[in-house]
Amino acid sequence: MTTKSVKKALILGGSRGIGAAIVRRLASEGMHVTFTYAVSEDRARALAKEISGEAIRLDSSDRDGLITMIDQLGAIDVLVVNAGVAVAGDPLAMDPNEVDRLFSININAPYHAAITAARQMNRGGRIVFIGSTNADRSPMAGLAAYGASKAAIKGMVKGLARDFGDRQITVNVVQPGPTDTDMNPADGEMKDLMHSFMAIKRHAHDSEVAGLVAWLVGQEAAMVSGAALTIDGGFSA
Ligand code: NDP
Repeated sequence: MTTKSVKKALILGGSRGIGAAIVRRLASEGMHVTFTYAVSEDRARALAKEISGEAIRLDSSDRDGLITMIDQLGAIDVLVVNAGVAVAGDPLAMDPNEVDRLFSININAPYHAAITAARQMNRGGRIVFIGSTNADRSPMAGLAAYGASKAAIKGMVKGLARDFGDRQITVNVVQPGPTDTDMNPADGEMKDLMHSFMAIKRHAHDSEVAGLVAWLVGQEAAMVSGAALTIDGGFSA
């Protein structure tokens, strides 16, 4: 009898929304899942118990803490960088510290996390970033900083795919459109405007995004690397 080894996955930002759906989906496929969160202690603990995994409190803007934590986890098979923040509004009125914090969480943390994880990652590993359709399309004002941060990820995956390809590690970004979470509730006041930009006029369910991530980290997607996979109901069409 052969024993199949349990794959180890790390999800940055897994306590709520799309991240929690990814945590549940990968755990349901038999992976051992560790995830981080910033503030939602109770939800993170409950989810860790539900999936028999680990929750680690770690703000992604803490670069050295992030690097140390990933280093200490050792060899993993899957890294999903989901933790992200959105800042929208008049750029002339925006607090520059808030914009720099967004860049730190949405660009710097994914980069350092991927590099650190790749040092010890098993052959055939998977790195997936959660970007946004706003990397490709900003159909309204106020999205420059957020869109720039997600467009940076699109460039990052192309480079990292080449850096790690010799070890059969794939690096990709999943770009959701409006998805029903705390960040963007399906019944929020912007819903009609957002749906007006879409071919399929509804918010996605977090489980639909998680399904695409699950496929990307599976064996069938071994030849998909350096790609941006958009799941936005035609928002960017
Ligand atoms: P939510 O705000 O609903 O959840 C965000 C998750 O990330 C939470 O688990 C949160 O932890 C964690 N997180 C946030 N900031 C940090 C941080 N500094 N350090 C560690 N963890 C952090 O967001 P969504 O689920 O909607 O979004 C997830 C990703 O998808 C983001 O990258 C977002 O930009 C992207 N996205 C979302 C879209 C949408 O319409 N919802 C559309 C396109 C892209 P905690 O609970 O502790 O706060």
